[in-house]
Amino acid sequence: MQDPIILGVDIGGSGIKGGLVNTQTGEMLGERYRLETPQPSTPEAVAQTFTELVRHFDWHGAIGVGFPAIVHNGVAMSASNIDDGWLGTHIETLLTEASGCRVHVLNDADAAGIAIMHFGIGKGVPGVVLVLTIGTGIGSALFIDGRLVPNTEFGHLYLINKKEVVEKQVSGGVRKATEMSWATWGKKFNRYLLHLERLLSPDLVILGGGDSKYFDSYSDKFTVSFPVKPAQYLNKAGTIGAACYAWDKEHPQQP
Ligand code: BGC
Repeated sequence: MQDPIILGVDIGGSGIKGGLVNTQTGEMLGERYRLETPQPSTPEAVAQTFTELVRHFDWHGAIGVGFPAIVHNGVAMSASNIDDGWLGTHIETLLTEASGCRVHVLNDADAAGIAIMHFGIGKGVPGVVLVLTIGTGIGSALFIDGRLVPNTEFGHLYLINKKEVVEKQVSGGVRKATEMSWATWGKKFNRYLLHLERLLSPDLVILGGGDSKYFDSYSDKFTVSFPVKPAQYLNKAGTIGAACYAWDKEHPQQP
């Protein structure tokens, strides 16, 4: 069998991270490499930084990319934590032409969710599993018996104060900027979880993103009836899941 190595890239509001991934084991080969996301994060500027990252790995094969927006058939359909210029941009075409490599793009939270469900705490869990990534924004990835329902965007529900989307109230970025205590954040986040309980009746919710490592500081505030667990994969999940997605696109299963 061909070597299952793919370059995975996670494009975020502040950093663009990449690494070579063994897509069968979920392990990264060597160190991840990170470049600052250019500001403003226009399509042209990001494509240039992306190409620099690809050159760093001297990579010529397929690439999987996690992108912080709704990604429908390779096109950005939203732009909340990235420049508005991305709206309607065919991300796959732009990055393929810029780098000379075949690029496959999906939503960044969906990418992280794929890694967590394949290799992490979600592995083999049946039923409705929701992965929430808590960072600058709130991303979501919904799985039904291990199959992804893409682009769910549960960070964009109008909740808690009902004036703004939930990610503007309880994301990791907001918690830091407002110096919110873990107890306060945990209580607010619990209101969000209670609402998700009514909408989805999940069997499991997994919290990813950097703040999931402080899980013990706030999880006592959760009163929902389903289990909530931290993802141990932390910030590598997006890179690994993007690579797995690209591998599957390059090697479609026969029906
Ligand atoms: C975007 C999502 C993304 C999340 C995490 C949100 O603002 O709308 O698409 O998954 O941020 O980056």
